Amino acid sequence: IEDARIAFATLADRVDGLAHPTLRIGVTGLSRAGKTIFTTALVHALMRGGRMPVFEAMQSGRIARAVLEPQPDDAVPRFAYEAHLATLAADRAWPASTTRVSELRLAVRYATPRGTERTLTLDLVDYPGEWLLDLPLLDMSYADFARQSLALARAPARAGVAGPYLAMVAARHADALADESHARELARLFTAYLAACRTEKLAMSLLPPGRFLMPGDLEGSPALTFAPIDPPALGTMAANSLGAMMERRFEAYKNAVVRPFFRTHFARLDRQIVLVDALSALNAGPAALTDLERALDGILAAFRTGRNGFASTLFRPRIDKVLFAATKADHLHHSSHDRLEAILARLVERAHARAHGHGAALDVVALAAIRATREAQVRRNGETLDAIVGTPEQGQEAGGHVFDGAEEVAVFPGDLPETPDALFDPSGAGFRGIASAPAGEVDFRFLKFRPPAGIGAGAAIPHIRLDRALEFLLGDRLA
Ligand code: GDP
Repeated sequence: IEDARIAFATLADRVDGLAHPTLRIGVTGLSRAGKTIFTTALVHALMRGGRMPVFEAMQSGRIARAVLEPQPDDAVPRFAYEAHLATLAADRAWPASTTRVSELRLAVRYATPRGTERTLTLDLVDYPGEWLLDLPLLDMSYADFARQSLALARAPARAGVAGPYLAMVAARHADALADESHARELARLFTAYLAACRTEKLAMSLLPPGRFLMPGDLEGSPALTFAPIDPPALGTMAANSLGAMMERRFEAYKNAVVRPFFRTHFARLDRQIVLVDALSALNAGPAALTDLERALDGILAAFRTGRNGFASTLFRPRIDKVLFAATKADHLHHSSHDRLEAILARLVERAHARAHGHGAALDVVALAAIRATREAQVRRNGETLDAIVGTPEQGQEAGGHVFDGAEEVAVFPGDLPETPDALFDPSGAGFRGIASAPAGEVDFRFLKFRPPAGIGAGAAIPHIRLDRALEFLLGDRLA
């Protein structure tokens, strides 16, 4: 019945698409990558305009207006655009992040270059990237999953935080009798280990299963009560063993969580933007960067899911364009924006080369959906240095100073390497990460800035290269 309902929705999408041109864009990225901010800024830009030189339809004045409309899916929460904008405007604070799927529909009234009036219906679907990284699990057995997860956990970059979990894995053999309390304890330690990998210091990206960190409405449910343990040789597990229990729950997770997500949301997308907090990975070091690259592999694999596998034609993904965007570029001086873009391009290229094609057009951009800083030049010891100026959030601390949320600070953001090569030296010896502050200056790289003052319903929101993202994602559909 569930499948019939989704099949109906999918068909309805397509029939609807014939009568009213509709574009369904997925906005994803791992937790804190910037999905909420990007979606809010995108909607605001379409409704209120802004400086968008590269977004041709807007630059040339062909977009007459964009209005919010009731969304097509009654069972999916609405993206809280108005509340998010109010938080930015009234409190000058960042709104709460994405924790589950939500959607929003916009009708964009525009004129074609020849002057014909048309309407493009835009459905934005914001969902956690952690869930996207679950899709490759559909092609894995429990034994594959357990082997891969344990290899990751035992690698030097993660072993430091995996101790308690790995100790329990060593103590609980897959052949042991299944026991609910052991399963729960394993799942708890495994989840704690995944969460520790996500901290700013490690900034790891590849952490499936996604619902362990982003449970949505499944928090505490039995579908999440499993963990990777060393599987015994194939086919030797007794039905009442711990290993068999874990395997059953892993399969249940795929059936109850991953497949429905794939069909209800993912398979219905036309285009996708994947937001990547590459700066956090760069700041955390080479292991985080390698991990991010693996996650990009997983993301590209996700776009292949179902193309020639289990999905029927109706549920086959139809994504034709994917944009990878490095977010929070306003933490860098503009001279480094191209460098950030080049680093992400290199990461995506390498993953793409391994992915053996998936049919969608790819592009890469470095952007700030909302620009929280401005640039300045500061003189220090007779030298002029490029700096960015922002207002650190209240309570942020650097160099022994605690910010009050009102004072501004000039930050020397440090340069990214001129070419990405330095980051991808196979020995890892060439990794420099982000050059830190000049000698004698406090390292402000990790400060979080408040959103800019002056955001409101009427005024345009400052951004960096949001127009490039819009042009790639919808330019051709407004022609
Ligand atoms: P989500 O988990 O992907 O929905 O992430 P959010 O959109 O909530 O962003 C997480 C945090 O990153 C925000 O609270 C901001 O602190 C920061 N952030 C996101 N986008 C930007 C941006 O364009 N500029 C700046 N300076 N910070 C941003």
